[in-house]
Amino acid sequence: GGEALRYPRVLLKLSGEALAGEQRFGLDPSRLTFFAEQIEEVVETGAEVGLVIGGGNIVRGAQLASMGMDRVGADYMGMLGTVINALALQDVLEKRGLDTRVMTAIRMEELAEPYIRRRALAHLDNNRIVIFAAGTGNPYFSTDTAAVLRAIQIQADVIIKATSVDGIYSADPKKDPNAKFYPTISYRDVMLEELRVMDHTAITLCKENTLPLIVLNINQPGAVLRAVRGERVGTLVS
Ligand code: UDP
Repeated sequence: GGEALRYPRVLLKLSGEALAGEQRFGLDPSRLTFFAEQIEEVVETGAEVGLVIGGGNIVRGAQLASMGMDRVGADYMGMLGTVINALALQDVLEKRGLDTRVMTAIRMEELAEPYIRRRALAHLDNNRIVIFAAGTGNPYFSTDTAAVLRAIQIQADVIIKATSVDGIYSADPKKDPNAKFYPTISYRDVMLEELRVMDHTAITLCKENTLPLIVLNINQPGAVLRAVRGERVGTLVS
């Protein structure tokens, strides 16, 4: 049961960096708690929630590769970073009494279930939060692409990308005071204007599957909840 929602099933993408807080590396317990609060209030509405978490607070494959490391190995390290984040998120969510499952795209059965789509759907039906870890399981992809893939596969009604800005702007609002805010924008314009919302692979997948994308500021308490209810928050890409 629960209220009537604009988006009853939602895939929320969190960046790894957002978990790091001020120190920009590793895990900040106060950030984890904040995220858990934001997720809990969404779950309380009766919405079904899938989570994809990045790994940028631990390892970025491209960055290690630019320092001379083999890209494929570096990307696997990046994917392992997302598993660390997923387990941390699972811990804070479970401590609040929420039911969760971590599913990984790379098998590590001692600590998480393998990603099996039909099983993920069953967890969601049972109101468990499913945390999808290890990205797509493939080097050369991003967790944004993983998030869109999972959103499509679980037939989510929306994908919400949590960022540290209020939505999509014509330029980086942290650098350009004249940056224009877009309350709504098409997938096509995001691609044509090369707006840095998600990589092209991820945006293309959204477009081809007409999956609505909401980009919002996770640091604004209640933003995710309002988005799930269909209130205007952040930027809607459709
Ligand atoms: N990664 C990958 N394949 C995937 C997802 C992630 O190889 O399907 C690796 C890649 O090296 C990436 C790292 O994992 O740099 C962390 O993910 P991402 O940079 O997307 O995390 P975020 O920026 O969202 O924290």
